[in-house]
Formats: sequence, C-alpha cells, structure tokens
Amino acid sequence: MNEKNFTHLQQVIQERWGSASGQKVTRYVGKFRNRERREEKITAVVEGNHGDYTVSIEAGETSAWSTCSCYIGKGGYCHHCAALGLTFLAEPTSFVLIEKVE
Ligand SMILES: [Zn+2]
Repeated sequence: MNEKNFTHLQQVIQERWGSASGQKVTRYVGKFRNRERREEKITAVVEGNHGDYTVSIEAGETSAWSTCSCYIGKGGYCHHCAALGLTFLAEPTSFVLIEKVE
C-alpha cells in the first residue's frame, strides 16, 4: 500500500466532504459495494432510486474530483459522491487496493 497516496486521498476527501450531512447523504453511507482503490482514486457502486450508480472520487493535487453516473452527478455534486467520501473516511480499509499492472 502506498501510504502517501492513501493519506493524501483521505485529506482531500476530508476537506471536501468531511462535514457533509443530511439524510440524502447519510442513507447511502456504508451502502457501497465493489469498493476499489487505485492509487489516489476510489470507485464503488451504490443502489440509488433508479438502479445502480457507479461513483468515483479522485484526489487532485489540492482537491478532490468526483463523478457519478446518476443524472445530476456528472460534475460530482450529487449526494452519492458525498456518501462515497464519507464511506471512505469511515471504512478506508474496506476499499480493495488494485495494483497497477506494469
Ligand atoms: Zn449520484
């Protein structure tokens, strides 16, 4: 595990979503499956109101980028992205590290 990537990812997620709250967000926290992490990017799937959504968050140098396959999530501003961030903060080791294949 690359600890530097891991710590940085945690930091930017904490900064952006650490104080996210509200029922729309919390109902999805911990509900993600297929949790994966590749270096500074995490991806997981959650069941929403209209089927499964794929949500991902990637750490940029100073902030976090996110995207979701739901109809408002393209820019990363939906509650699924916030919920994924909070899920990672609560259960970081539940994300399976996928090593880069050389
Ligand atoms: Zn979404």
